[in-house]
Amino acid sequence: MIVDYHLHLRDGAGAIDHSVKAVERFVEVAAARGVDELGFTEHVYYFRETRELWDIPYLSERCRFELDPYCEAVLEAKGRGLPVKLGLEVDYVGDRQDRLSELLAPYPWDFLLGSVHWLEGEAIDQQPGLWAHATTEDVWQRYFGALVELASSSAVDVLAHPDLAKIFGRRPEPDVLARLHRDVAQEIAKTGVCVEISTAGLRKPVGELYPDPDFLAQCVSRGVGVTIASDAHEPELVGVDFELALAAARAAGCETVAVFDARSARLEALG
Ligand SMILES: [Zn+2]
Ligand SMILES: [Zn+2]
Repeated sequence: MIVDYHLHLRDGAGAIDHSVKAVERFVEVAAARGVDELGFTEHVYYFRETRELWDIPYLSERCRFELDPYCEAVLEAKGRGLPVKLGLEVDYVGDRQDRLSELLAPYPWDFLLGSVHWLEGEAIDQQPGLWAHATTEDVWQRYFGALVELASSSAVDVLAHPDLAKIFGRRPEPDVLARLHRDVAQEIAKTGVCVEISTAGLRKPVGELYPDPDFLAQCVSRGVGVTIASDAHEPELVGVDFELALAAARAAGCETVAVFDARSARLEALG
């Protein structure tokens, strides 16, 4: 089994397209690349139902779509027998996480991705963002602190791009990084959430898969489940570089992939 469990529904030109037609375009590319199942995971801040959560202009400006048509497009495709799952990429919002979960509760999610993109109004994955005010080690500590908090919240099922803090290639000293990998993997393992192996990092300044091989191995050795993801924002990127993701999973000792239905995971043989 090969899944691509991190996808943003767009048309060929990159515009938001929450339609069955758009789902079909992603499914066609998946079939050509040998990907068995797709999980659509639009950013949570695109949806008006969550408007009360967003005070950062980057997020509130994008908050203009509705959850019902999005869910219906994916569910209709699923009903027609296409191999797709309904998900969402849910942001870390600190002490408002429970409120966000409450707003999302009425919808039939197969799984929810958890992402830390913002900390106290400043971006991790944009520059200058958080990097302008904090040391590299401080950014990493705070990033992983938020990731563990999100994993523990029961708001999400899979952690997206788990070491996103490396996006610009800035990392703490090796001994600090090794300790963070070990401690964070230990905390994630206690929560039961999975981590994704994402090929998106290959297309970012760091030029690597998320997560780091050592971090992934620390997670896998503690029993953390794994999904595979492209984070495609266009159909052409479905399943891109998955040979590298599969090799990374195997190198970390992982031979299974987590498959989700109604926020419940089962393990299937990877590949
Ligand atoms: Zn993300
Ligand atoms: Zn994404």
